[in-house]
Amino acid sequence: MNAVLDLAGLDALIGALRTSGRTVIGPVLRDGAICLDELTSAADLPSGWGVDAGPGHYRVHRREDTAVFGHSAGPQSWKRFLHPPRRALVTSGPDGFRPVREDPVDHAFVGVRPCDLAAIGKLRQIVGGPMPFVVAAECTEPGGVCFCASMGCGPSASGGYDLALTERIDEEGHRFFAVAGTHAGAELLDRLPGRPASERDFAQARSDVEGAARRMGRAMPDTDLRALLAANREHPRWAEVAGRCFTCGNCTMVCPTCFCVSTEDTNDLDGGAQRSQRWASCFEIDFSVLHGGAVRTSGAARYRQWMSHKLGTWHDQFGTSGCVGCGRCIAWCPAGIDITEEAAALADGVVR
Ligand code: SF4
Ligand code: SF4
Repeated sequence: MNAVLDLAGLDALIGALRTSGRTVIGPVLRDGAICLDELTSAADLPSGWGVDAGPGHYRVHRREDTAVFGHSAGPQSWKRFLHPPRRALVTSGPDGFRPVREDPVDHAFVGVRPCDLAAIGKLRQIVGGPMPFVVAAECTEPGGVCFCASMGCGPSASGGYDLALTERIDEEGHRFFAVAGTHAGAELLDRLPGRPASERDFAQARSDVEGAARRMGRAMPDTDLRALLAANREHPRWAEVAGRCFTCGNCTMVCPTCFCVSTEDTNDLDGGAQRSQRWASCFEIDFSVLHGGAVRTSGAARYRQWMSHKLGTWHDQFGTSGCVGCGRCIAWCPAGIDITEEAAALADGVVR
């Protein structure tokens, strides 16, 4: 089932999701970035805002139109709702230990990019949890650090959504070509104010998305990355990149698929205590502590671990790459380190 919605139709979609009891999350402009937060209506979406992104660079800017999904990935990903940055596990007090039970939130995600759609699928394979209702937003303009096409994760949404929207603004107006991916999506679309989609609407949406794939300025090298990384464990590039890397862990925090956690115990002055789970990073020195100390003491070892896991050994563990080509790790790296450039440097070496 498909249809064409206007802005009022998009607003009705958000309203219907809220009326069904879901907490609707989507992109909003906050603190000079496109963040993810609760939407109460389509008016909360970042209408007319775009993003300039490059290695170590991210700025929002005013667009010449009023597109609501005219921006690339921001610093946050949907991971924070599926796998929260911090979660209480157990508390202790005068009554002893008590496990912390959280009421599950019935989420609807609106405006999920195809790269993030793929990331949600990969992450849920690991952390599980209930599947949110997903409204995807296909990409018609690649961002400055995007390379999803070369990872097979975009710019078109190929599955994993209830509804997928393709936004278009031209002389015929501001509209969203909407296609249902599930029965629930079709049922909802049927109740929204819109018009039936024509062959022309469908062709325009396809052409806009295909154009985005052609204009994507960045790509992962077209080679067997898993084999490349396994064969290059002693490559001099690891020391070279370590000379630029601050081991800050930003790349792992913004990555929509990095899932590692650590546990922390905290005490309060009343004698109570709490054990919490928090996101951890393989760039932390104590991440690799075994009996006797850390086994990855150098920045080179930690960068190699991150990239080799992400692009290589994820395949062994989960049957897929850990990277979807969203480009967040490139934009939010304070040193501007670009994972595609690092992979290319290895691929250009003698060993493959
Ligand atoms: S690659 Fe960049 S973001 Fe990642 S740890 Fe190094 S400096 Fe930080
Ligand atoms: S490794 Fe970088 S580009 Fe790949 S999914 Fe993670 S943040 Fe996105």
